[in-house]
Amino acid sequence: MAMSDTIVLGGGMCGLAAGMMLARDGHRVTVLERDPAPVPGSPEEAWERWGRGGVAQFRQAHFMQARGRLVLEAELPDVQQALAAAGALRLDPVARMPTSIADRDPRPGDERLVTWTARRPTLEQVFARAAESQDGMEVRRGVSVSGLETRRIGRRLHVTGVRDDRGQQLTADLVVDAMGRRSALPKLLTDAGGDPVHEEAEDCGFLYYTRFFRSRDGSLPVPRGAYLSHVGSFSIATLPADAERGRSPCSSRHGTGRSSACATRPPGRRSCARVRSTRTGSTACRSPRSCRWAA
Ligand SMILES: Cc1cc2nc3c(=O)[nH]c(=O)nc-3n(C[C@H](O)[C@H](O)[C@H](O)COP(=O)(O)OP(=O)(O)OC[C@H]3O[C@@H](n4cnc5c(N)ncnc54)[C@H](O)[C@@H]3O)c2cc1C
Repeated sequence: MAMSDTIVLGGGMCGLAAGMMLARDGHRVTVLERDPAPVPGSPEEAWERWGRGGVAQFRQAHFMQARGRLVLEAELPDVQQALAAAGALRLDPVARMPTSIADRDPRPGDERLVTWTARRPTLEQVFARAAESQDGMEVRRGVSVSGLETRRIGRRLHVTGVRDDRGQQLTADLVVDAMGRRSALPKLLTDAGGDPVHEEAEDCGFLYYTRFFRSRDGSLPVPRGAYLSHVGSFSIATLPADAERGRSPCSSRHGTGRSSACATRPPGRRSCARVRSTRTGSTACRSPRSCRWAA
């Protein structure tokens, strides 16, 4: 395939991974990311200071889908190595099957389920650092996409580029939407005269809180339950986070993180907004610090 100019809209993990893969295939890639903050030098700085308002779940625990790990291994092995170096932990869900499952014999293919867990800022920082040094790819931060450049071929609308919020036009052979679950693309397409995009969306009624814990001596606590436990309308996911390997190994705070995410669906309520103020909701995020982690 001939080299093309590609614009990726959104510099989250999907946009950056897609951009890096396209650049490694020889395409010229420009990623436009609305959040202006530069990429911090370490996962700890990302945790403490990185303003990523465009990713609402930025401060939550992250369990990478196993398929994502397989793609990383095949296409971006250096990014996977950087994740490991940043302290992300490899997690084998089969090793901690619920005790209620009697047949525990391994099956061929179980290894495909192994994946990574880490604090989300750790993953985002690792992907963003890798993208910064990727040949053939430029990430422009603080650029919001506000319109599409199009032309009609017959009855079809073709996207030929984008406009940013400063009115600058960029042309491209391919435009990739990676603006996340609140992507503006359906609106941008109808604004440009395209047919409405068929979308189906449902409010799942879930609230999601995360607390992170750090052991004093760097050890991981012995798991006492399944990764996911259901307690009435609550579900509690307890996941390893990341081990902060960037810190001095002799520091007493060199710690293996462990995160606990708690999701709740308020019974009988379609909207979850009000549970934040109920006794149940405040128990779920009792620590004053944890409240800012709600997404
Ligand atoms: C509470 C919660 C927990 C989750 N936990 C997990 C999990 O454990 N494991 C898992 O696999 N998935 C999880 N997910 C889902 C996962 O976070 C998303 O699927 C993932 O973030 C999608 O990545 P993305 O790069 O496509 O989009 P996002 O991460 O949403 O990034 C979109 C990017 O586009 C930028 N952007 C938006 N609009 C514009 C614009 N107009 N111009 C330029 N840039 C723009 C944003 O600033 C942002 O950087 C969770 C989701 C939620 C809500």
